[in-house]
Amino acid sequence: MVSRVTDDYVRMATAGCQAICEPAFWAGFDRSSVHGFYDYFCQLTEHEPKRAAKFGLPHFCWLCINPKESEDLKLADDVLAIIPKFLNRPNVLGIGEIGLNKNSRNEMKVLEKHVDLAAKHDQLILVHTPHLEDKLKGTRLIVDLIKSDKRIKPERVIIDHVEEHTVKLVLDTGMWAGMTLYPESKCSPARAIDMVEVYGDQRIWMNSACDWGVSDPLAVPKTALEMQRRGHSAAAIDKLIYQNPLKFLSQCPKFKIQRPWQPT
Ligand SMILES: [Zn+2]
Repeated sequence: MVSRVTDDYVRMATAGCQAICEPAFWAGFDRSSVHGFYDYFCQLTEHEPKRAAKFGLPHFCWLCINPKESEDLKLADDVLAIIPKFLNRPNVLGIGEIGLNKNSRNEMKVLEKHVDLAAKHDQLILVHTPHLEDKLKGTRLIVDLIKSDKRIKPERVIIDHVEEHTVKLVLDTGMWAGMTLYPESKCSPARAIDMVEVYGDQRIWMNSACDWGVSDPLAVPKTALEMQRRGHSAAAIDKLIYQNPLKFLSQCPKFKIQRPWQPT
């Protein structure tokens, strides 16, 4: 939501969204020091929940230094050092979105430190995978690194931005697979549903890309409509867009939402 306007909250609430889960993310520019991250974590844990609450939406978040800014190892260490102060705040779900952007050595080092931090504090993990030609290699590096840390339970990790060539690789590890929906490029609603039709609906969830490029906070409800058009049942749609995220996120005891009504 750092990149979105208040009208997006209105639209999401109107479309039936029940909660917002915002990963720590790039601010549209590289922050110059750890102080920028301190303020950002305050925004995510104090100010943004208040903005969301005005529209009846519970707001949750994830904390980390994102891979795009983790090339500077000194800065990354400084940011990692302040994260524990925020972990017990009521809307923090875990560590994320960590991962790789360009699959560099420094990004790998910072990823390993985040995984260690999550293990020490028993946190859920949300992982960003690189886009385009770096995705397959980056996804392999990430799942191998996480699998090698025996303290991490795979069912407490979600690997985000999977595509056709990485979804099976992720599901075979016992981790969750996130499909990030974009209106045009990358994973469109139609491609996401194709993947569900091939690989099933276990340990898969969908999320709306809400970043600095062209993106649509209503991508998930629009995908639900497309599933309905293709003949998926209401129960199948509900499992994918509501029950699955609820199951994963409820592993964090702080994640509690009240649904106003049940689908018939
Ligand atoms: Zn991402």
